[in-house]
Amino acid sequence: MRPSFNPRLINGPFRDPGLFIPFHFQNRALLFDLGDISGMPPRDILKISHAFVTHTHMDHFIGFDYLLRLMLGREKTLALYGPQDFINHVEGKLSGYNWNLADKYNYPLVLEVTEVHPDYKLGRRYRCKDRFRPLGQAVRQPFDGVLYREPAFNISAAILDHQISCLGLSVRERFHVNIIKEGLNRLELEPGPWLTDFKQAIYSQTDLADGFEVNLPGQPTGKRFELGSLAEQIARITPGQKISYITDVIYNDPNHEKILNLARDSDHLYIEAAFLEKDRKIAGQKHHLTAHQAGKLAAEAGVRHFTIFHFSPRYTDQENLLYREAMAAFERFA
Ligand SMILES: [Zn+2]
Ligand SMILES: [Zn+2]
Repeated sequence: MRPSFNPRLINGPFRDPGLFIPFHFQNRALLFDLGDISGMPPRDILKISHAFVTHTHMDHFIGFDYLLRLMLGREKTLALYGPQDFINHVEGKLSGYNWNLADKYNYPLVLEVTEVHPDYKLGRRYRCKDRFRPLGQAVRQPFDGVLYREPAFNISAAILDHQISCLGLSVRERFHVNIIKEGLNRLELEPGPWLTDFKQAIYSQTDLADGFEVNLPGQPTGKRFELGSLAEQIARITPGQKISYITDVIYNDPNHEKILNLARDSDHLYIEAAFLEKDRKIAGQKHHLTAHQAGKLAAEAGVRHFTIFHFSPRYTDQENLLYREAMAAFERFA
């Protein structure tokens, strides 16, 4: 199965955390956490359509300015999500600059900012050409655990305890559409951008009796198919991909339960492991996990793969100890 998402951590494990999640074959990506992103190629940063900030400690939010700077003057809507008080923090950032020339840009950048509370979310919009003054009052909507939905995937969040609210995040593809090469060959169809439209039609639950036109490069007219019969010949549906991201959380019972619920059966769990188990007391005081706790949570959630990150600098040159401890706990509790 070729995954739809190809996630990667934006920095090494001792530097600011963050997960970049580009979409296969699409010029688009999600970002979990907005720490220092200056090491990322700008072409990747510009793919980001939705950025989710777990909490606004500096190491998770300092990249906001750089992201905004790259996107200024582009025709783009950037959606930003964060925990309680996030709107205040974004407005604080925006009010730190003078925007007197912002209405001169040809293309309008729009920010859609959403903050998450236990049972509702608040959203507010800002346009570059209005010098990022908010457009009206914040709009309130119910929150049922799913933060954002599209036909092909959704993003769930759990509000975790890091002394402050901190979001645990999970992206889940509804199902996966695998393209069968032999099927394409039989119909004399070449792979191309039309496959993205084809998959979108399946995800949108378009009537399977509808017509679907395949436009191949260099051919003046498209080939028409019935969507359902085309799907039968060229596609196989398998369970969707699930990727979860947990960072900056204390190990306690409520967090434990919420993390297992959110991350259960993930294909890949990215989970912080700031400390070694021998320094468990300090981990508790700083509201972070140990590598042992991270490995145990990964095992109990039944994830297929996991990666630890966000190491304390006290373990510089000793990262092997963290990896080893996490893996030992994973094997023990799996
Ligand atoms: Zn942190
Ligand atoms: Zn933190």
